[in-house]
Amino acid sequence: MMKKIAILGSTGSIGTQTLEIVRAQGDLRVTAMAAGHNVDLLEKQIREFRPAMAAVWEEADARDLRVRTADLDVKILSGMDGLLAVAAEADSEILVTAIVGMLGLKPTVAAIAAGKDIALANKETLVTAGHLIMPMAKAHGVRILPVDSEHSAIFQALNGECGNKIDKILLTASGGPFRGKTREELSRVTLADALRHPNWSMGRKITVDSATLVNKGLEVMEAKWLFGVELPQIQVVVQPQSVIHSMVQFVDGSVIAQLGTPDMRLPIQYALYYPKRRPLSGGRLDFAALKSIAFEEPDTETFRGLALAYTAMRAGGNMPTIYNAANEAAVALFLQERISYLQITEIIEECMKSCTWLPALTLDEILSTEEQVKQKVCELQGEVIA
Ligand code: NDP
Repeated sequence: MMKKIAILGSTGSIGTQTLEIVRAQGDLRVTAMAAGHNVDLLEKQIREFRPAMAAVWEEADARDLRVRTADLDVKILSGMDGLLAVAAEADSEILVTAIVGMLGLKPTVAAIAAGKDIALANKETLVTAGHLIMPMAKAHGVRILPVDSEHSAIFQALNGECGNKIDKILLTASGGPFRGKTREELSRVTLADALRHPNWSMGRKITVDSATLVNKGLEVMEAKWLFGVELPQIQVVVQPQSVIHSMVQFVDGSVIAQLGTPDMRLPIQYALYYPKRRPLSGGRLDFAALKSIAFEEPDTETFRGLALAYTAMRAGGNMPTIYNAANEAAVALFLQERISYLQITEIIEECMKSCTWLPALTLDEILSTEEQVKQKVCELQGEVIA
């Protein structure tokens, strides 16, 4: 039987790998897809996968795409309305959330309200609104299936555990391209250096987040919501080769780990077919060649991104949103080479100090916190760069 899926961010790293799985498996049908600005690739994808609906961000791009696809039976939409329509498209059973940042929030909520399972790559949604998303998913009887490799590993390690309680999550981290560097050395790294991840090929924003360890901070928060654990139960372990994708320790001291080669198609495919496993092409671990697996403690003194995430989690309320929104704004500036690498975490820290703290948050309050933080980063940018 065909399984029907919709994809937000079909032209990105996770989106294109999702489509590789669709191509390889033959029993998935894409009913709707959304992209940002890459109209050329989206047109090709529409021609190959024939969705009933597609969306781009700008209306001008949508007009262009309507002309280009006039020979096809596809409805082309734009803006947030387009994302919402793709997320809740009537035929789809599962939505792959592969857009970057808090932009994913409203479409994810719309998909849950429409009863779609969520294959969640867009971790920023859970970081900022986990307290709303998880109960909402439960109320609508939909599953939140993790795509992030670490969370997929934890999810896989919990399979067959019949509700046995987690004692501790051991969240593994590669340490990123700057592992072992001093703050002095980090003051001189460039955008190109930050974009050179040792093990994973990913979109630009998450690659920078991996270089600051903010990504690991976001993942700690994501794990809290997905698996219902508290901060002291999550331990970050640096495992530079990215062979162990994460582990769960149970109350009897037993540790279950998931291992594999660094290939995002595996967790994407696992989320799409859960609880079934399907064959997947690609490399396999060679333990004879590997010989050893190394572990280290994360360096939170040098990499403030992770330490600030702990502070944000402990503060609760809208602090994780402030942390995340400040990071999104700062990384956008770093990607335009308008601020330095170390300024990313300086900006996050400054926003966490100066933005208004709110205890419990509605969706509107989350989005207004985001606006306040963006405003603050604009002000800081004046101070930082002038
Ligand atoms: P990419 O930057 O590679 O892709 C982002 C996608 O979002 C593109 O399709 C882009 O479209 C689309 N997009 C951007 N802006 C808009 C917009 N305004 N409206 C609609 N679509 C938009 O990101 P990744 O695939 O790397 O990451 C996606 C998410 O998955 C992130 O939350 C990330 O943290 C998470 N993730 C990614 C992993 C990876 O290996 N890449 C691993 C684990 C999690 P376009 O290019 O056409 O502009």
